[in-house]
Amino acid sequence: MRLLILGGTAEASALAAALAGRADIAAMLSLAGRTLHPAPSPIPLRIGGFGGAEGLRACLEAERIDVVVDATHPFAARMSRHAAQACEATGVPLLVFTRLPWERQSGDRWIDVKTMEAAAAALGPAPRRVFLTQGRSQLAAFAAAPQHRYLVRAIERPGEIDALPFHRLILSRGPFRLADEEALMHAENIEIVVSKNSGGEATYAKIEAARNLGVPVVMAQRPTKPPVAQATRLDEVLAWIEAHRAAP
Ligand code: NAP
Repeated sequence: MRLLILGGTAEASALAAALAGRADIAAMLSLAGRTLHPAPSPIPLRIGGFGGAEGLRACLEAERIDVVVDATHPFAARMSRHAAQACEATGVPLLVFTRLPWERQSGDRWIDVKTMEAAAAALGPAPRRVFLTQGRSQLAAFAAAPQHRYLVRAIERPGEIDALPFHRLILSRGPFRLADEEALMHAENIEIVVSKNSGGEATYAKIEAARNLGVPVVMAQRPTKPPVAQATRLDEVLAWIEAHRAAP
């Protein structure tokens, strides 16, 4: 069986590790190429866009792919749309492997927004000390609110960061610990946090820290993804693969 994993997430890495060394499954991991130094892959790796849904369709045919697991990030809406289109066009079975969104808990002070433009507006007119944790994407949206002081955390230096007049950049990769998140927010006098509702354990500590410190969180809701079969646990994904491996 020839399997393509669309990655860039912990879920994709876990699936790649689970399939490494299997003689009956030739799995390949695909990354967009956003980070300069991706983690080493235990299975063959390809890096870079496919050239839209049409490019992915051509790749599925050229590589004789039998099944695709879309384990991209919940906010990677375009890649998931292309995967749904290409798999439908070729008849290749597709499963989305994703994590559940975080649920609001008692004590959370979330302000739900749909876009980063709305997140910037939600910070309000008065200058505040803002912790931007949504990563490199769409930082430029906050140039529309230049009165705030931004603490920006990202894995690599975001190209858009110079759009923010008052900022400090922390380069760091999760997982993050609750005590460290509380200490950071306390030391930086953070008054409000901006986050995507990514879900998962690795970056949840900032949400807990904000709750414990009484700090509001501007929470970007997930984009809509195509209606495709979905799994949230590795064992479910492996069972789905097994079911398709057994099929003629
Ligand atoms: P996106 O907007 O959905 O995708 C933009 C384009 O990047 C796609 O059209 C595709 O180019 C290419 N691409 C995306 N994922 C790819 C993959 N796994 N393999 C090959 N090409 C891929 O995605 P994004 O939000 O820019 O995210 C890019 C990558 O970073 C994804 O792999 C995602 O899992 C990961 N990531 C994203 C976030 C986030 O918050 N968005 C967070 C953590 C990790 P073509 O059209 O040319 O094929």
